[in-house]
Amino acid sequence: MNERLETLLDTVRRTAGQLGGTAADAAWGVGKRAEELMSAARLRLRIAALEGREEGCFAEIGEMLYATHTGHPTDSDALLEKLREVDSLRAERARLEHLLDRRREAAVCPVCGAPARKDDVFCRACGKRL
Ligand SMILES: [Zn+2]
Repeated sequence: MNERLETLLDTVRRTAGQLGGTAADAAWGVGKRAEELMSAARLRLRIAALEGREEGCFAEIGEMLYATHTGHPTDSDALLEKLREVDSLRAERARLEHLLDRRREAAVCPVCGAPARKDDVFCRACGKRL
């Protein structure tokens, strides 16, 4: 393998253990209360937006690695910063998905108020679409 790329990947490996925790902790504290009140549709939009940003990060990471491979080495700090960004985006997305799951578990039919189960598509009491 290209020596520069190997060095870059070594740096990434060395810092792998410390990435997840701190980024996740930071993301968990942000805007928690506002999201408790957010509608399911809004949560799904936020989740989709986060997925889009993750894809963007992965594209940039790919460019950085490929540039290194072709002899234009990427600064490892820049790469690590991008990886950390993915960590916090993923942590935030996991948190929103968790909120969305809890929302589904606590769902009630908007028409008759009967409790609905997580995967119900139609209300078990009145038959309306949930
Ligand atoms: Zn109903």
